[in-house]
Amino acid sequence: MGIFNRIKQILVTDVRDLFKQEGRLVDDDFLRDLFAILVKTDMGAGPARKIRDRIGTDFRARKVHMPDILKVIREQISEIMDQPEEPIKFVENGPTVIMVVGVNGSGKTTSIAKLTNLFVKSGKSVVLGAADTFRAAAVEQLSIWSERLGVEIVKGEHGADPASVAFRAVAKAIETNADICIVDTAGRLQTQVNLMRELEKIRRVMTRQIPEAPHEVLLVLDATAGQNGLSQAQGFSEAAGCTGIVLTKLDGSAKGGVAIPIREQFKLPVKYVGLGEKAEDMVLFNVHDYVEALLSEDK
Ligand code: GDP
Ligand code: MG
Repeated sequence: MGIFNRIKQILVTDVRDLFKQEGRLVDDDFLRDLFAILVKTDMGAGPARKIRDRIGTDFRARKVHMPDILKVIREQISEIMDQPEEPIKFVENGPTVIMVVGVNGSGKTTSIAKLTNLFVKSGKSVVLGAADTFRAAAVEQLSIWSERLGVEIVKGEHGADPASVAFRAVAKAIETNADICIVDTAGRLQTQVNLMRELEKIRRVMTRQIPEAPHEVLLVLDATAGQNGLSQAQGFSEAAGCTGIVLTKLDGSAKGGVAIPIREQFKLPVKYVGLGEKAEDMVLFNVHDYVEALLSEDK
């Protein structure tokens, strides 16, 4: 598979280091070391404790080999995540409206390009809404992607009301019978009350055309942000009504474990994963592949 290499390396290398000799006795030292390795992936103390305790219960005072331990870690993570693949759900009539939110630099605009690429490849038509009117460069960046991917874009002037751009983008999608409308938004912190209210306004404006819109609100999280991802997930899921997560930059991170506590605490499914800067660098999140990558022994 080779896509989650860095996370895979840290976990397997470090778990392997626990097994210098043939097998190892499961005692307090072992459990403490294992706990430290698990926490390094950013899965959080809760899940790490759960896995450690399980291994303690199953194997304490026994000699174990690495595959025994990996098997339990794998099972426990699958149990905690407990999610099927969750692609975007398309509505039957009219455009499916997707709004994309998150902090600055998390990878929103790039993820929109990647999603567009997936959708276009599956034969769907897409209209983009460049509602990040805060930075002129942001509109430019999305325009370049729209040209490259051959899809329509609705823009606003620099400083224009983002809600009006979102409104026009949805209108354009309806008018052209597009399958999907994806609206980019300016980066903001979950603690910036006024900017979080602005997201509410963007949503409200969309419902005037399609009562159920936006059908999906994707929170884009940078996997390298570690535990900050948790506060972002909390702030955004409450204020912006997120329906799922796009976890970006897993290619450059040894910390992809953050998807685990996010799932555990907020019940938000990770829908897609970003693995690079190109339009093709996105895959549907699959727990099985993720856990295998996290723990795979063949490096
Ligand atoms: P935005 O501010 O949230 O819209 O973020 P951008 O989409 O502009 O991305 C910020 C930077 O992160 C850009 O340099 C992107 O190329 C880069 N980036 C986005 N997603 C990924 C990813 O999955 N992997 C890597 N390595 N870089 C990414
Ligand atoms: Mg952007």
